[in-house]
Amino acid sequence: MYKTILAAIDLTEEADQVITRASELAGIHQAELVLLHVVEPVGYAYGGDIPMDLTELQEQLDKSARDQLTDLGHKHGIEDRNLLVTVGRPEAEIHRVCEERGVDLAVVGSHGRHGIQLLLGSTANGVLHGAKCDVLAVRIN
Ligand code: AMP
Repeated sequence: MYKTILAAIDLTEEADQVITRASELAGIHQAELVLLHVVEPVGYAYGGDIPMDLTELQEQLDKSARDQLTDLGHKHGIEDRNLLVTVGRPEAEIHRVCEERGVDLAVVGSHGRHGIQLLLGSTANGVLHGAKCDVLAVRIN
């Protein structure tokens, strides 16, 4: 039986499918369900090329992510203390939070990519590599 299940959510329309599957499993296992969204630092996208202070933009992105995660979490009946938004690289943050929270199953979405997209990798692949707990890749339709 799993005790703590984490659903990693990218806040796109596929998030609902990932939460729904994680929530079903949490029900069966009577496990605690944790939702995590990782906000990527704006600096990553611009590589520090733009000489401007990105703090305010980052704060807006964090707040917007927090609001969206809260809405999703409440829709699925998840407690506020289990709705987490962190900043960093998704794979690394998912691993870190899993260890910190004693998660025994991480649930992520997977698009079943092939060809060049598979070679470029996906978040699901990244989470699987180096995970210290079980990982479930939910096929996104
Ligand atoms: P991707 O391979 O980036 O299309 O993402 C596939 C799955 O990885 C999503 O359905 C989520 O489960 C997870 N994921 C992607 N980005 C994030 C993120 N920023 N925070 C948390 N989970 C994420």
